[in-house]
Amino acid sequence: MTVRAGIGFDAHPLAPDRRLILGGVEVAHDRGLAGHSDGDVVVHAIMDALLGAGNLGDKGLHFPSSDAQYKDISSLILLERVGQILEAARWRISNVDATILAQKPRLSSYVNTMIERTAGALSLPTEQVSIKVTTTDYMGFIGREEGIAACAVAAIEKAQ
Ligand SMILES: [Zn+2]
Repeated sequence: MTVRAGIGFDAHPLAPDRRLILGGVEVAHDRGLAGHSDGDVVVHAIMDALLGAGNLGDKGLHFPSSDAQYKDISSLILLERVGQILEAARWRISNVDATILAQKPRLSSYVNTMIERTAGALSLPTEQVSIKVTTTDYMGFIGREEGIAACAVAAIEKAQ
């Protein structure tokens, strides 16, 4: 059995007139994350953690932002494709663990739904996906509510 781990990080600026989508869930807020897709930082961090674990490049390689087909696309669709890329390389996902760094809004009531949607996109039981939330105690760009960031790790395994 070969086991590998990967890490992912992402940050997007908060902007007016955008929906705030995190973990595939629309969160009630006065601003949303700007980005070529839906700006879902936690799904983007998980995608890079999974691709990194498989040494399969990064999300920019597989889903270039220069490609118009990815404009405003749901990041859950891209996550599903990452799951398929890993499956084609015969990797099984052991677990995913992610942290969202946001000063506002409070996200704890959304976390279970984020886990359900993220696990669903990867065809995983929810116990294999963890999403947590924290603030930066008002420090830096996150604390000033200029943006939201997320980091993630993933472990994958292959029988051989
Ligand atoms: Zn992103």
